[in-house]
Amino acid sequence: MRMTISIRIKRWLSTQKHLYFLFGALFIIPNCVLFVTAPMPATAGIASISIPLAIWFGTLLLSRRPGIIVWILLPKVILDGGQLVLLHLFGESVIAVDMYLNLTSSNASEASELLENIFLVIICVFLFYTLPTLCLAFYSIQIKDRLSDTFRKKWLKISFGLFLSGVLSGCLSFRTFSVKNDIYPANALYNLYFALDKADRNKNYPVTSANFTFHATKPVQAHNNREIYVLTVGETSRAMEWSLYGYEHETTPRMEKLSGLAYFKDAITQSNNTHKSVPIILSAASAEDYDILYQKKSIITAFKEAGFHTVAIVNQKLTGSLISTFYREADTYIDMSAFHTGSYLTSLHDDAILPYLQKEVNNAEGNLFIVLHTYGSHFNYHERYPREFAFYTPDKTDGLRAAGKDKLRNAYDNSILFTDYVLDEVVRILKKSGACSSMLYLSDHGEDIFDDARARYLHASPIPTYYQLHIPYLIWFSDIYRRDYPEKYQHALDHKALPVSTNSVFHTMLDIAGIETKEADPSLALTNEAFLVRDRMYLDDHDDPIPFWKAGLKKLDFKMLDKWNISYKDE
Ligand SMILES: [Zn+2]
Repeated sequence: MRMTISIRIKRWLSTQKHLYFLFGALFIIPNCVLFVTAPMPATAGIASISIPLAIWFGTLLLSRRPGIIVWILLPKVILDGGQLVLLHLFGESVIAVDMYLNLTSSNASEASELLENIFLVIICVFLFYTLPTLCLAFYSIQIKDRLSDTFRKKWLKISFGLFLSGVLSGCLSFRTFSVKNDIYPANALYNLYFALDKADRNKNYPVTSANFTFHATKPVQAHNNREIYVLTVGETSRAMEWSLYGYEHETTPRMEKLSGLAYFKDAITQSNNTHKSVPIILSAASAEDYDILYQKKSIITAFKEAGFHTVAIVNQKLTGSLISTFYREADTYIDMSAFHTGSYLTSLHDDAILPYLQKEVNNAEGNLFIVLHTYGSHFNYHERYPREFAFYTPDKTDGLRAAGKDKLRNAYDNSILFTDYVLDEVVRILKKSGACSSMLYLSDHGEDIFDDARARYLHASPIPTYYQLHIPYLIWFSDIYRRDYPEKYQHALDHKALPVSTNSVFHTMLDIAGIETKEADPSLALTNEAFLVRDRMYLDDHDDPIPFWKAGLKKLDFKMLDKWNISYKDE
């Protein structure tokens, strides 16, 4: 019986006609999976399959032995394999710009994390897709049979008809349909082009921003006091895991006791990717206007121009990125990632920042602006805090598995507990300095930790979730600050229930410090009475703004947005 089946398969495969159809089917598999998983209107979906299918059917006719064409299209076969691996991982997206950038950049922490998990998937796709396709193509070249002219003419006509019907279908949904977005592999190749162009723009930033100046001034100085402002950039912290925000585990006892604290309950990020989110935090760029990133300098230069001594203390490997280029604008740049030679996943605990902060506060006279870039709650969670902060146990897991969710959550909770400690210590140093001071903290994005039926994990996926968007965002004001600038503190309190986003940080920091520049927008400053509520945008894969509720969020996400009172438009 077994023999007969294998003989029948072999006999079926020994004609080029059958191989031709089989290659057509294999070539269209990624499109079919994308059609089923990616959200798009039916007419656009039909176009996204029939146009490329027609092209492949037509192209395979170029030789009487279609296997030759398959081998000529080897790059496509390899790309298809990569696409299938990603579809397995994220379920619903073409290879994104950020994925290419993560793979090509030297600080590919987010990609390298995933690599461990995807190794098995890569092997499966290779064994069951790429290798069989290439073997069959080789076989097609070897056998005697050839495609007949009658067959080729007939299928050329059919392909042409299929192509026309696809174009027609695409025209019916022209508003949502475009070749560069919806037809695989055109979209994957466009994303590659976009990624290369972006890498180039990042590299050229020092040139394109060279002549920029903020013309920043600080007309008013605190009464008899120096002023110290700290911007603490958090990593992978999600608001729902903070007891300050209402989480059932006690994770932020110190922040809850702090006087002079304003925290924003409805805060979301404009990007779930560190390398897009942090530049927005550190500059006047926003999802609404991301390209100005390459023309203007960062918040550090604005403070510097206004007479502040500027410092960046960074506990994260950012070498070669635009973020580290921003930090190089500072008078003092302390790159703690250079202190040890571990992998991307190992770093010093964030409290190692504190002695450097203390030293800078002691050494510098006059006004001081310090950016602290932490490693917060980045995976691997249990490596982010010293053992005395392992309050929730067990907290050790091997890798990322849904079965280990409780342990992962424990470790994650502990990392927040430690962040709470580090922030409290920063505040303590500022209090002790006797300066007029303030500290703004927020996270660059959140994280998925197998939270619902989707069993998603980590962040930076092409389509975000509630868990990756909702971030903690708080500002502490010292007693002296509140005495000298009481109205700023009051405005911050007045705005604490309003919907806010990461694009407010730049303007808020300048407003807190009383820095004036044409680049400052008071309507984005949380401490200014001119603050305006606006629709919150999310930065999509092509660096265009989209309302965050249209970024591909699912029912499960909207349920969480409602639970946490995050405002969005119901449309
Ligand atoms: Zn991040």
